[in-house]
Amino acid sequence: MAVKVAVFSSKPYDRVFLTDALADDHEVSFFEPRLDLTTVALAAGFDAACLFVNDNATRPVLEALAENGVRFLALRSTGFNHVDIEAARELGMRVARVPGYSPQAVAEHAVALMLALDRKIHRAYARVREGNFSLDGLLGFDLHLRTVGIVGTGQIGAAIVNILRGFGCRLVAYDVVQNPVCIAAGVQYVELDELLAMSDVITLHCPLTPETHHLIDDAALEKVQDGVMIINTSRGGLVDTQAVIDGLKSGKIGYLGLDVYEEEGDLFFEDLSDRVIQDDVFSRLLTFPNVLVTGHQAFFTRNALEQIASVTAKNIAAFDRGEATPNDVLSS
Ligand code: NAD
Repeated sequence: MAVKVAVFSSKPYDRVFLTDALADDHEVSFFEPRLDLTTVALAAGFDAACLFVNDNATRPVLEALAENGVRFLALRSTGFNHVDIEAARELGMRVARVPGYSPQAVAEHAVALMLALDRKIHRAYARVREGNFSLDGLLGFDLHLRTVGIVGTGQIGAAIVNILRGFGCRLVAYDVVQNPVCIAAGVQYVELDELLAMSDVITLHCPLTPETHHLIDDAALEKVQDGVMIINTSRGGLVDTQAVIDGLKSGKIGYLGLDVYEEEGDLFFEDLSDRVIQDDVFSRLLTFPNVLVTGHQAFFTRNALEQIASVTAKNIAAFDRGEATPNDVLSS
């Protein structure tokens, strides 16, 4: 039976990949707005809502979705911190995600941020285009033999390990569960405080949970080396933005690479180039020469979008047949 699917936060590229994967078997409607209380009525009469990272699946929104007949949330993401899972459970909804759709995409982007910050590619690009070939201020360091601390060694963390081994980095990690693949690759597991103190570069690859919220805060920054590089391609809430601004001002943080931001929901994925950004904290971040921000694009490769669409199709088919899958966050 065809499932009626309402796709929220859909961009032209989502339409292309999801239409290919879903349209033959299901009735798919694409809605550009983010899901929230003001847009939830769009889902009236649909069986499933297909959501992305900044859709707002809080309890009141889920209650309204359920009233509209939605019984399944097909997440187009690995993380599910944007969904009130307890509320979904109480409402009898099923929730599935797309785990590890392309760990390499995110890992490669994290390393791109590291290299760009280290060798100041963002500044060099602008200089050369202005005819300024001076090297003053562009001095970098070799990643070779530097200590990189990886927080979270699941699929993306393990992919980072593979890449950074090639650079000859010393790799230390912190995770609540140790990954034997990483141990075999020579990674040394340490406590979080040790990782903070040892690392020249700290890269975050754990999910956002109550335990990891503001993992990088004032207290953590007291433990890091002066001039540390911090990379966050995971979720904005892992980093206390005001704390890192203070750390950048004092020089404690030497480099900051972000693909995610705590309050990104009002900014990312939209063209705001003709508007005045109202978020003063975000605007302050953009003033530092040693900060590089990308707008949640680490996942954004052709391979990843194909995989997201294909696994989403499988998740919807499994919902249709009433079968469980390993991708279920919540089985009904
Ligand atoms: P994963 O589930 O394979 O790995 C997550 C790892 O974090 C696991 O090893 C887990 O044990 C560990 N972890 C859990 N709680 C922890 C804690 N309190 N402290 C330390 N480690 C902890 O997930 P993944 O596929 O590697 O993805 C990691 C995260 O990357 C996702 O949760 C998501 O938030 C983010 N992500 C971002 C993008 C992007 O485009 N920027 C794309 C995909 C995923």
